[in-house]
Amino acid sequence: TTRPLSDFGLIGLAVMGQNLVLNVESRGFQVSVFNRTTATTDEFVGRHPGKKLIATHTLEDFVQSLAKPRKIQIMVKAGAPVDQVIEQLIPLLEKDDIVIDGGNSLYTDTERRDAYLAGKGLRFIGAGVSGGEEGARKGPAIMPGGPASTWEVMKPIFESIAAKVDGQPCVIHIGPGGAGHYVKMIHNGIEYGDMQLICEAYNLFKAAGFTTDEMAAIFNEWNEGELQSYLIQITGKALEQKDPDTGKPLVEMILDKAGQKGTGQWTLINAAENAVVISTINAAVEARVLSSQKKQRVIASKQLQGPTPDLSAEKKALVAKVHDALYASKVVSYTQGFDLIKTMGEKRNWGLDFGGIASIWRGGCIIRARFLNRITEAYRDDPALVNLMLAPFFNALLNRTQQSWREVVALAVRNGIPVPAFSASLAYYDSYRAEQLPANLLQAQRDFFGAHTYERVDQPEGKFFHTEWPEVI
Ligand code: NAP
Repeated sequence: TTRPLSDFGLIGLAVMGQNLVLNVESRGFQVSVFNRTTATTDEFVGRHPGKKLIATHTLEDFVQSLAKPRKIQIMVKAGAPVDQVIEQLIPLLEKDDIVIDGGNSLYTDTERRDAYLAGKGLRFIGAGVSGGEEGARKGPAIMPGGPASTWEVMKPIFESIAAKVDGQPCVIHIGPGGAGHYVKMIHNGIEYGDMQLICEAYNLFKAAGFTTDEMAAIFNEWNEGELQSYLIQITGKALEQKDPDTGKPLVEMILDKAGQKGTGQWTLINAAENAVVISTINAAVEARVLSSQKKQRVIASKQLQGPTPDLSAEKKALVAKVHDALYASKVVSYTQGFDLIKTMGEKRNWGLDFGGIASIWRGGCIIRARFLNRITEAYRDDPALVNLMLAPFFNALLNRTQQSWREVVALAVRNGIPVPAFSASLAYYDSYRAEQLPANLLQAQRDFFGAHTYERVDQPEGKFFHTEWPEVI
């Protein structure tokens, strides 16, 4: 018997893989599936009778079931498993077949695999997929990197499965090689920042005596305004949730000890390598680290002194002020994220479309938000924009919110409430807008101990001077 060949194949039937397969199938494509543990394959296909799914038990059978050029997406655990699957596939594939890695791979791994497979006459796409289980099933944001000609082949399938906002699919060709996975990594870094900023708002409200239900109402209301976003929305819902055992708000029963899987740290390492400031994301990653040191914090809380927080007098005015502090800090965080993307894009010659990247983040992914439209507009109006804070909309927004923002940070500092991401964002803002920084003294110090030389305010730039400083014993 001859069966029709499949339009698409997927390897790795865990949560993400299964949901992506159902998504692709629902758009009218026939999909072949393979999983290392074949019982999972049979169980999955058995649970979806009547769907255009082809279960395969060997990679040979899987590859033979696909129409050419074959389009094979790998959704296995990131790291070595991706290389293992690629090695097993290579002898079975033919020239021009397309392999897509849709996992959370490090972009440098993607660059290596891209070059390796190109050397074998095969085509490779490294695609970041965001949106978790539900995104995968109903429509994720997809960030594909690879040759433009390969993207053209994949475009119909990717555009049909991606989330849609205002009729536009949340997928564009990001750029060659590792560009897609790189942009997905920065997306995750920005996600860290967004989450931490929300948590700092929550912490201030808690200190001011708001009940958890009152806080839920605040976030629900914010989700109707400028801050409308998936993370604000789920925060409101999370705060409403009651613990079935105690009847208390569930968040009060959750231990304040956060985990992380590494994409935030990858973002920090990359920023350090490129000398780009991403202080908001940095603060967010470090906040998770400090949160994880719960035992030490409990001990220190009994030894290291601070003020007793009293924000009761501020309670009424606090909501609007924290709203502004959160919004302004978020603008700084995205400014820094896009600065990093721009820097790497130029270094690697990726030809990135910053407005396009912001626009595909409007749907499907975790950082989806209304305000991303404003970033898209800013880059459409001025593709050479140096710093997002200087785009007219954000410039005006920061001028309007900066006073409340500093009042919130000052209030937090006075009351001993840590707001690392709010304050790091504000320090970036105040540093960036400072015509004069104390680096003149810094240069004097450097020249003093290391003869590093300095430039003078009354001489042309690029002319360097050295002083014979007094000897110090
Ligand atoms: P996962 O837990 O990361 O990986 C499990 C899958 O990998 C299983 O199908 C497993 O097969 C397979 N696998 C592991 N080692 C293998 C090997 N050496 N050879 C062949 N197959 C191997 O699955 P996931 O959570 O669905 O995530 C898949 C990818 O998407 C990951 O890169 C993840 O980071 C990324 N991602 C996940 C989410 C999310 O919300 N979960 C969101 C975005 C992106 P067996 O069944 O045989 O063990």
